[in-house]
Formats: sequence, structure tokens, C-alpha cells
Amino acid sequence: MTIAPRAPRKLSMKDRYSALTRDLDWTPSYVTEDELYPYTKFEGITIHDWSKWEDPFRLTVDAYTKYQAEKDKRLYAVLDGFAQSQGHLSLTDASYLNAMKLFIQGVSPLEYQAHRHFAYLGRHLNGPGPRFASLCQSLDEIRHIQTEVHTLSNYNKYYDGFHSFPHMHDRVWYLSVPKSFFDDAVSSGPFEFLIAIGFSFEYLLTNLLFVPFMSGASFNGDLPTMTFGFSAQSDESRHMTLGLEAIKFLLEQDEKNVPIVQHWIDKWFWRGYRVTALIAQMLDYMLPRKVMSWKEAFNLYFEQQMLGGLFVDLAYYGITPPKFVEQAAEEKEILSHQVYWTLYQFSHAAAFSTSIPTDEHMEWLSANYAKFDELYRPLWEKEKRNVAAGGRHFARGLPELCTVCQIPMLFTEPGDPTTLCQRWSTFEDEHFNFCSDGCKNIFDHEPEKYVQAWLPVHQIFQGNCGGATIPDVLAWYKMTPNDGGEYLGSRDNKNWLAWHDMAEKTGGN
Ligand code: FE
Ligand code: ZN
Repeated sequence: MTIAPRAPRKLSMKDRYSALTRDLDWTPSYVTEDELYPYTKFEGITIHDWSKWEDPFRLTVDAYTKYQAEKDKRLYAVLDGFAQSQGHLSLTDASYLNAMKLFIQGVSPLEYQAHRHFAYLGRHLNGPGPRFASLCQSLDEIRHIQTEVHTLSNYNKYYDGFHSFPHMHDRVWYLSVPKSFFDDAVSSGPFEFLIAIGFSFEYLLTNLLFVPFMSGASFNGDLPTMTFGFSAQSDESRHMTLGLEAIKFLLEQDEKNVPIVQHWIDKWFWRGYRVTALIAQMLDYMLPRKVMSWKEAFNLYFEQQMLGGLFVDLAYYGITPPKFVEQAAEEKEILSHQVYWTLYQFSHAAAFSTSIPTDEHMEWLSANYAKFDELYRPLWEKEKRNVAAGGRHFARGLPELCTVCQIPMLFTEPGDPTTLCQRWSTFEDEHFNFCSDGCKNIFDHEPEKYVQAWLPVHQIFQGNCGGATIPDVLAWYKMTPNDGGEYLGSRDNKNWLAWHDMAEKTGGN
């Protein structure tokens, strides 16, 4: 056996990094560059010099794996301790877990999709710098879904709604919102994907997506999810930097790239923003102990940090803030209420449960939202009377869906929160509906893509979802009646009360 000579010790960090990454790259001699990298031209993006891509993180594979292993060790120690000490009993309430059910069903499968597509970019981008950054992100993303599954699997032993999440992700009506978002991204070209996921998702919107879930966990006694969040956060800063590097690189390479990138920013801001509708209702309605309101979160993480910071810098390249961003800003007053009111009525067909906000909760809502008492409190007061009379309301029909974001048409006209917003386009003599100007704009730009949308309600009506009745469709979703519906009196609620009674008597929690 021969031992390879060691690299001389005197190499600087930067040289060592080059030797281990870029210097492993070579110029093809018996195929052309276009044959080797066939996917980086059709989107119309012009790249003159791939070596201008700077990696802000000079990470090598050995340093990367050592660092990640350390973090895993810490996380799995917390998971063990929490499981052994019945830590789930110290959550604020079992209803908190509705937020985590939504997370594992809706968000974790996106991590896996991100893993797959960054692996693809790790093969197909021409430059060794972006290829290596993509490879690292691909590894991060598979670690994220694995650690999320391990973190939340402990709850699956005691609570409903956690089983079958990958199956549900591909079939269930409200999960088609995040799924179609990511399907749209992975079926676009490599540069659009970088702007869609690397920039819009990881940079523009990540604080609106992950901070609410992770702070929600820490405020509600969910130590494992909080620890997972910390473990993912250091990866997140690398991902955000990759997104920012990607957009600056594209804008600096050629002026012709600017309008293409601008449309992607407009499109992916709106696409991502619509997915955050699920987060808005989670913050304002699902968390028993509140972190901050959606209105505050949107103002802080988007209006102040992005519009007031990042887009000021991007103006230098001729980039303007995303189209329809003023509608999103206005909507922050009403979004969560409209979304939760809809989920409340359809939770008999969901793998999470809902309930009327308590009086204390409604006080919080009215203290945070000027229009709550006028527009939304009356709905809940009426529903309280329904429940008192034994008629908890579940919608029996199926809602109309937006062809682009796939959310039921529940949003209202800009400036008029009492009129439903409806937009439409005709393509090849067919009529398509949209929830907003933002979604219509996306469709009109690429109708050929969106006419293929797999809209859950249409699929149910066409008989592709297990049958014509609610029990048929729920069986096809692998949902049981215990997974959703009303929280009060649910199996999770009853168990929680019984376990707490027991825990108090035995001197535990
Ligand atoms: Fe991730
Ligand atoms: Zn829409």
C-alpha cells in the first residue's frame, strides 16, 4: 500500500481551498462545453466568465462533514433526553402540534425536493464555484429533512396527524400549495431555480418561513424543534449567501440578464408570498403562546429588511421591488384571518385540527389588528352560537382554486376586504381563474406551464381522488377522522387532558 504524499503544510487557507475545489476542475477536450453543460443557455441568460463567481464560504468537504456531525450529535442528544423524559407533556398544549403537523406535511418534503434539485445543479452549472456551493446545499437539505423527520417522529407516537406525511404531500388539497410551488421551481431552468429558491425563498422569505416556526417552537416548549432550528440556521446563512451571490453574479455578467431576472423576482416573490399565507394563520391562530403577529413579522422581516435594505442595494443594477408588493403589504392586516377562517371550515378534510379562538385569544387579535373587531370577530361570535346549538360548521362543498397558487379563492380585492378578488384569463378557449393580480401575472407570462396544474378540486370532480364522497377522498389521502376536524374533544385533546391529570397525580409535569 502506498500513502499519498501530504499537501505541504505551508498552504494558506485560500490556496488549500482552491486546491481542494476549483483546481479539481478541468477543461473538456473531447466534448464541447455545451455538450457537457446543456441546460445553461435556453433561459436566455448570458454568462461571460464563470470564474467571477465568488464563494463567500471557503468550506472543504472534510471541514463541512466534521461541523455537521458536531451539530447532529448535539441534536440527537436533545431528542433522546426529550423522548425519555416524556418532554411532550411540557408543551403549552397539544393544539400547538397543529403547527408541526403542517410543518412536516408541507415544508419537510420541500427540503427533500431542494436536496434533489441542488444535486442536479451540482452537476449542471458550468462553474466549479457554484457547483460546489450547490453540492453543499444539496447535502444540507437532505440532512434537514432527515433531522426534521427524526425530531417530529417522537410526536407521532402520541399524536394524530403526523403519519403518512409524504403520501399526503402529494395528494392533499392544502398541501398542493407548497408542493406546486416547488414543482414549479424544479421544472424551470437552472438559473430560474437559483432565483426562485436560492434568492426568493432562502433570502427574501426565509425569515418569514422559518423564524415563525422555530420561535413558535421555543415559545411553546418544543425543545427538539428549537434545537433542530438552531442546527439548520447555520446552513441557512450559507444558503442565503448563495442566493445573494447568484443574483449579483447574473446581474453583473450581462445587462441583458436584468429584465429576465426582474421577472423571476416578481414571479417568485408572489409565488413564495402566497405560500406564506399558511404561516400567517399559524402565527396568529395555531400557536397557543404567541410569538409575534403576522403583521409585525411581515413588517420587520420583509418591509424593513428587504424593501428598506436589500432592494435599495439592488436598485444599482436597475432592479426594482417585486410587482404587487404593495398589495402584500396592505394584505398583512387581513391575511391570517381570511386563511384561518377557511381552514377552520375545511379541517374535517385536513390532518390538523382547528377551533374557535378563546376570548383571551380574540383580545390579542383585536389588540394587534385594527379591523379584527369589525370584520372577523362577528364571524367567530356567530360560530360560537352555532357550536352552542350543536352545529359546528364544516363546509360541505368544494372551493374554487386559483390556477397558480392553488389556494381556495378566499382573498379579497385590494382596498376592499369585503369583496372576494377574482381574476381570469383565457388560453386556447379555456377559462382560468386566479386569486390575485400577482397570480394572473404569473399565468399570463407562461400559460403553457400553468394549464397543466394538478388542481385538487378539479381532480376530485374528475374522479381521480378515490371516489365521490368525503370518506372516499380522505381514505385516498390516508387520513382518519382523528387526524383533523375540531380540536376540542378530539383524541389529541382528550389524551392531553388525561395525561396531564395523570402527570399531576404522580408528581411529574
Ligand atoms: Fe433546508
Ligand atoms: Zn393565486
